[in-house]
Amino acid sequence: MEKTIAVIRGDGIGPEIVGEALAILDVIAEKYGHKFTYKEAPMGGNAIDRFGVPLPDESLQTCLAADSVLLGAVGGPKWDSQPSENRPERGLLKLRGGMKLYTNLRPARVFPELAAACPLRPDIAAKGIDFVVVRELIGGVYFGEHKTFDENGEKKAVDVMSYTEHEIRRVARVAFEMARKRRKRVTSVDKANVLDTSRLWRKTVTELAEEYPDVELLHMYVDNAAMQMVRDPSQFDVIVTENLFGDILSDEASQITGSIGMNPSSSMGDGTRGLYEPIHGSAPDIAGQDKANPIATILSVAMMLRNSFGLSAEADDIENAVDAVLKAGYRCGDIARRGEAVIGCKEMGRRIREAL
Ligand code: NAD
Repeated sequence: MEKTIAVIRGDGIGPEIVGEALAILDVIAEKYGHKFTYKEAPMGGNAIDRFGVPLPDESLQTCLAADSVLLGAVGGPKWDSQPSENRPERGLLKLRGGMKLYTNLRPARVFPELAAACPLRPDIAAKGIDFVVVRELIGGVYFGEHKTFDENGEKKAVDVMSYTEHEIRRVARVAFEMARKRRKRVTSVDKANVLDTSRLWRKTVTELAEEYPDVELLHMYVDNAAMQMVRDPSQFDVIVTENLFGDILSDEASQITGSIGMNPSSSMGDGTRGLYEPIHGSAPDIAGQDKANPIATILSVAMMLRNSFGLSAEADDIENAVDAVLKAGYRCGDIARRGEAVIGCKEMGRRIREAL
């Protein structure tokens, strides 16, 4: 298979973790006879320094022309004083919009070897935590009208939340398709007891479920979902929800797994091209010190192979190699317990390549 991958190394630890992830892809290419061509696409603070903008048009074009995109992370204190329309994170929003990425997928899985890092009670973690949050990414209140104005002698602020049936249907379809490949259970999260958008959400998801008789559909209010996630996360397989609820629940889910450096994510639109990235940021506090955990980025590459290129065996291979290295006791600083030996970003990458 021949694929072109746009590579956004980004800022902070971005170049370090992306370097290790690409080295893993090189091993996969050699082992399975594939050809991956990497095209650099500058974005973030480094792009502001070089081109004056966080996402140069040429970078967006490179991403649009590629079969998929791998991103490290962008941002850092150096660019915090930029006007809001020119901050590094703006590049990310422009990229998501430009690639029309309406679905964000975040798996939350507790690795058995890292069960001690899970902040939940051991008997809860022992039941197994392995679910995916499917979040709508370009609709809802984040993309509605925002305004602040004077009324009756005080300030009033309004943010508009809206959803259309097709916006709901397309993200729900992703959730049902994903559940088919997993444990066949979708939990749709809303606030249908209060919000009209949620009532439309529930009705639309319920109608779509008729096309997926093999998948069980449950509805849950978002406040209950937040509680259930810490009370018994083993009940979840695929969670699908709107943008604001998904933002909050996916962060809660990532905390349950115990380490920010372990969690991959992907954002998808129509078609197979996706944007794959670790859930964490650019970690400026450890940048350039060979301390970053590259596993989240390496697992993002595994997601890319499986979800965008249909290379499941190769993806399994990477995930098994990560499992093997963790089983052998190797830990980066973020996942090491007190007294455990710590290895750096480069050595973690090398160990995973060896396991492959
Ligand atoms: P962060 O995720 O960068 O870091 C939070 C903490 O987790 C830090 O202590 C960091 O050292 C640690 N950490 C993160 N990733 C790690 C890894 N792979 N290995 C080991 N430790 C790791 O969040 P932050 O400090 O709030 O943000 C830093 C910058 O990143 C900000 O400029 C922010 O805007 C940006 N950011 C970018 C993205 C993105 O590019 N998608 C996402 C979140 C934050």
